[in-house]
Amino acid sequence: MTTSAQLFEQACRHIPGGVNSPVRAFKGLERPPVFIERAQGAYLFDVEGQRYIDYVGSWGPMITGHADPEVLGAVRERLDLGLSFGTPTAIETTMADLICEILPSIELVRMVNSGTEATMSAIRLARGYTGRDKIVKFEGDYHGHSDSLLVKAGSGALTHGEPSSPGVPASLAEHTITLPHNDLDAVERCFAELGEQIAGIIVEPVAGNMNCIPPLPGFLEGLRKVCDRHGSVLIFDEVMTGFRVALGGAQAHYGITPDLTCLGKIVGGGMPVGAFGGKREIMEQISPLGPVYQAGTLSGSPLAMAAGIALLTKVREPGFHDALAQRVETLCSGLEERAKAAGIELITQRAGGMFGVFFTGQSRVDNFAQATACDAAAFRTFFSAMLDEGVYLAPSAYEAGFMSSAHTAEDIQATLDAAERAFARLAQ
Ligand code: PLP
Repeated sequence: MTTSAQLFEQACRHIPGGVNSPVRAFKGLERPPVFIERAQGAYLFDVEGQRYIDYVGSWGPMITGHADPEVLGAVRERLDLGLSFGTPTAIETTMADLICEILPSIELVRMVNSGTEATMSAIRLARGYTGRDKIVKFEGDYHGHSDSLLVKAGSGALTHGEPSSPGVPASLAEHTITLPHNDLDAVERCFAELGEQIAGIIVEPVAGNMNCIPPLPGFLEGLRKVCDRHGSVLIFDEVMTGFRVALGGAQAHYGITPDLTCLGKIVGGGMPVGAFGGKREIMEQISPLGPVYQAGTLSGSPLAMAAGIALLTKVREPGFHDALAQRVETLCSGLEERAKAAGIELITQRAGGMFGVFFTGQSRVDNFAQATACDAAAFRTFFSAMLDEGVYLAPSAYEAGFMSSAHTAEDIQATLDAAERAFARLAQ
């Protein structure tokens, strides 16, 4: 038995499923999760000292690689001043100024402790601002685990939402309308019927929780127009895409201005941080300025602000995102070539520093139905073979991959060599 397997057994004694977030459990992969001891740059090192080239990056934040000396240095510098005061601190203003400078659609911003808090608060705000209850989301988009957002599609575009999890009251879920991602016609039809009741649309502008699905041309533009027409709030969930798809996130990349933006991951430099912000007029509804209540004991933690500011400062360097996208391009085109040579049906999709690998004969994947129609068994074999080769991919066919600036040309070449052997195993 490996040390990781032993640790997993021990973890299962007192932690549900042995993990503090479900995807870490490697469920359905027929092997225990790898327990990581430390990480440096592009590499994870497990408890037995085995090294992995990492394309998960703590699910997004580690865009300059693990244990970035500047991020760690900033945290160390703050540490001796104390962890948390429950008072305003100047470093929170530095963070707010930085976010508003990088994302011009954000005029006021509130820091929170996770992406879930950011999206949960943003929809409360959209509801409070408009005085309407219904929210539109898209099938396969993940916005964290708050009740209103943990809802999947019913059958047909306009059916009321059904909870994705026991414990989400049906009476709340019915205010969440789930439509097919990338389907503007469905959005138009829904608003034609219910527009005056819809507080807002929340969307992952590049979906990263059903693999990687960029928007079809016109989709985000269409959402903007529909929201304008009906006085609904357009919320971009940029928890994953923010500072990754481009410095200014997907909104900069695709040139669409949302009313509210949710941030997480990179904004905290690897610490538990989220943020939501946007138009002044809407954000002024938040307490203590307005009546929509939102709060947090540890929100704006100085230590977390220090980590986030250090990381945002690095990703602002000119050329950072072009170089990141180039690495993604090299990896993805290399994977496609090698798969083709091995006779494996595989495509990749990318947006800036994120990418997805789909085992499918389709030429593109634009929504949840297409994503779930891909060959899950092929993914499992590929994932396992890559892990044995020392390459750590997301342990699910429905997660995007993340590149960092610490990945060298040699790391990418080693990944492609490993993939060649994995494809050979798969082709057997
Ligand atoms: N929104 C998106 C797009 C995400 O990818 C995630 C998490 O992966 C969340 C929200 C929730 O963030 P958190 O896990 O920090 O609560």
